[in-house]
Amino acid sequence: MRELLGGKGANISEMSRILGPERVPAGFTITTEACVAYMNAGRSEPAGLERQVADALLRLEQQAGKRLGASEDPLLVSVRSGARESMPGMMDTVLNLGMNDRSVVGLAKQTGNERFAWDSYRRFVQMFSNVCRGVPGEDIEDAIRSQKEKAGVKLDTELSVDDLKDLVETFKGLYRDKTGEDFPQNPQVQLRHAIWAVFDSWMGDRAVEYRRINRIPGDWGTAVNVQQMVFGNKGEGSCSGVAFSRDEITGAPEPSGDFLVNAQGEDVVSGVRTPLPLEEMKKIMPEAHSELLHILRALEAHYRDMQDTEFTVEEGRLYMLQTRSAKRPAQAAVRFAVDAVEETMLSREEAVATIDAARLDALLHPTFDPKAEFDVLARGVNASPGAAKGEIVFTADEAVAAAAEGRDVVLVRPFTEADDVAGFFAAKGILTSEGGKASHAALVARGMGRPAVCGASDLEIDLTAREVRVNGTVLGDGDRIAIDGSTGVVTTADVPLVAPEVDRNFHRVLEWSDEIRRLGVRTNADTPEDARKAREFGAEGIGLCRTEHMFMAAERQAKMRAMILAEEESERRAALDELMPLQQQDFEGLFEEMAGLPVTVRLLDPPLHEFLPHAEDLVHEIERARSENTDDLDELERTLEQVHHLAEVNPMLGTRGCRLAILHPEIYEMQVRAIVRAAMAVKRRSGHAPQLEIMIPLVAYEKELELMRELIEQTVEDAGGGSLDLTVGTMIELPRACFVADRIAEVADFFSFGTNDLTQTALGFSRDDVEGKFLAKYLERKIVDRSPFETVDKPGVGCLVRLAAWVGRESKPDLKLGICGEHGGDPDSIDFFHMAGLDYVSCSPYRVPIARVAAAQAAIAHAG
Ligand code: ADP
Ligand code: MG
Ligand code: MG
Repeated sequence: MRELLGGKGANISEMSRILGPERVPAGFTITTEACVAYMNAGRSEPAGLERQVADALLRLEQQAGKRLGASEDPLLVSVRSGARESMPGMMDTVLNLGMNDRSVVGLAKQTGNERFAWDSYRRFVQMFSNVCRGVPGEDIEDAIRSQKEKAGVKLDTELSVDDLKDLVETFKGLYRDKTGEDFPQNPQVQLRHAIWAVFDSWMGDRAVEYRRINRIPGDWGTAVNVQQMVFGNKGEGSCSGVAFSRDEITGAPEPSGDFLVNAQGEDVVSGVRTPLPLEEMKKIMPEAHSELLHILRALEAHYRDMQDTEFTVEEGRLYMLQTRSAKRPAQAAVRFAVDAVEETMLSREEAVATIDAARLDALLHPTFDPKAEFDVLARGVNASPGAAKGEIVFTADEAVAAAAEGRDVVLVRPFTEADDVAGFFAAKGILTSEGGKASHAALVARGMGRPAVCGASDLEIDLTAREVRVNGTVLGDGDRIAIDGSTGVVTTADVPLVAPEVDRNFHRVLEWSDEIRRLGVRTNADTPEDARKAREFGAEGIGLCRTEHMFMAAERQAKMRAMILAEEESERRAALDELMPLQQQDFEGLFEEMAGLPVTVRLLDPPLHEFLPHAEDLVHEIERARSENTDDLDELERTLEQVHHLAEVNPMLGTRGCRLAILHPEIYEMQVRAIVRAAMAVKRRSGHAPQLEIMIPLVAYEKELELMRELIEQTVEDAGGGSLDLTVGTMIELPRACFVADRIAEVADFFSFGTNDLTQTALGFSRDDVEGKFLAKYLERKIVDRSPFETVDKPGVGCLVRLAAWVGRESKPDLKLGICGEHGGDPDSIDFFHMAGLDYVSCSPYRVPIARVAAAQAAIAHAG
């Protein structure tokens, strides 16, 4: 019942059922619905709450045989927050509620421990003042510090009864100064304030920020757990702590945790005193320790997942205060999954389902050593995982030059553009001061498996001065910098890195995933290196080979430009003839890596001007050529003219994709000839050609594809490729194509959803613009709960995908369906594509393992 009771409340009651009521302090839970009602009424208590709380409290008092605020043996309670999903430390909790001037005397008498009673009272006044009435924490800390100075002691635990009494008086004074009221002595009043404070903490800054990052809806509300107190601060036989059922970093099957003797729970996390590791408890309180280990096992077996618990020992008696599934790093998640199957606790399916697939990224890149300590220079968005260290360079050219000399560099720019791509290859990592997870830098970096931190807005990157300024530090060319793209941290420290490994455990999880999943997993790759990497990671073919990248290489640009600038077809054909052998070579390398597997080759897609220099640069060049009277002037002027001629207001919606080939069929002809020749050559050498799938981009009209198909079939035949296993299909990336998918299917062997462009065209969003301009506001105003470029917009773009899949298969039942946009590596989107009935997803090489696990999880989640 976690939706109603919150995770903490639901698990407390479940624990008391499994472990017995004597192990879990009694209490009651105010539902999340009450919190929602309170919020909706503008922070005012819903009718009936007060009476129901009074009834529940009465039952608790009867059960405990104690009364809140009584002068003899008083009942004390904690008032604890607890949302549907755990938000550790993000909301408020009040301990020792019910203490007042009378009950402190009663508690002292009843326990024979005056110090304990006054310690509990001062803790309560302190917490209540701070949490419920906003007395600043610093004022409280100052008061404690000066009390300790006056008493000449170092630790809180060394304060005497009289010191504690003084402190209570000081705190009451702070309370009066802040609120203009006396500290409330009536426990009912205390309780109401504490409940409101917990409700309010749902809307506190910390909680709001945490929800934003973790995508937890703001309208869930928190439950409030009112629970009888047990005391870890009753002396040397008492303690408070946290315990994990397995090592929380590595997942090794030994329990781990921290605890503090003679302390209440908040001391363990607050860092006031340094806690001891859990093994130490074995020596200090062997019995409670062994009970705890026993309980951890029982909880794990019950919840069938690794547990993260909080406990208190009161004079030798162990109480469990909380349990939840442990949030864990990827390595621990994988280790647990494998061990749980070996221990026969979980089936393979159940074990695979416990893994957070998105986090597996961390296992595929080097990261900062988690044990390292260093100063953080700045923080940005964790845009592409993995860590990198190197010298600062400011341009792609410098990165390429430095890499050629064998130097490690980090490319540092305000933002990046298409021209910088070569620099990504050369650099160890990318750092930008602008843009987010869907910025150019982030997308390209993730595609190449380069670590990247983006949008580190504290950095002032001055390309003219060639300086990075940040909080008084100035860094320049060659200064060393380190980034962790998994956490978004930037530092100048030489942090040790730890290498990634697909270890034995991860291998097993991947093997199981392959047995379970229905979706195929391919990769997006344009180079033999990427193809090889992806094969190592388990890719079952290439779902998208972008041929334009092959023309971007520096030595080919001149030939490409000659082709584009050609004024007549014969001239263009001559230039294409020079490009053909180079293109063929590229395909041969790729096909060798993928022999026998499907390879989808997309013919040229981007607008031609992307291959041409910027007009402003040309103008400068022309000025230079004029003043120096060099002989390239003519050529430059001709180029500028053509650049102007080709310029479009909106190139992404302009002359690109198949539109280009309708104008100039000879470009696709050349590409198809190169593909056929390469496949034949590979077949001759190794005996295996790949299963070729030639893909036409940006099709809107069925007639476009029909024409392209004719062109391809004719070219294949002319090139002597009749015996090849070769099919022709199309990208589906325009809404019209989705609507007329049945007609397009008549001339297509396969569809591959290009969900990046489909998202742009369905939403009318220009990806490069929305990220930097308004997406943040849209997230904040909850118009969208995540970027549609990160996770597919299921109701909108997803609906187009389903429609096209449905009507496409209606007209051609064996139509093959895949997806090759960025979404192909996003676990949440993969789940959707599984449900939409696609045959495979294709993603960047480094996301292949994630996609394998996510595809298995989709199959598990929707089984039966
Ligand atoms: P958080 O969600 O921040 O962990 P909790 O509600 O779990 O907040 O409370 C924090 C700590 O307060 C607990 O870890 C525990 O040590 C202590 N605490 C809470 N309730 C009780 C209780 N009934 N008896 C003793 N200690 C408690
Ligand atoms: Mg807790
Ligand atoms: Mg596209």
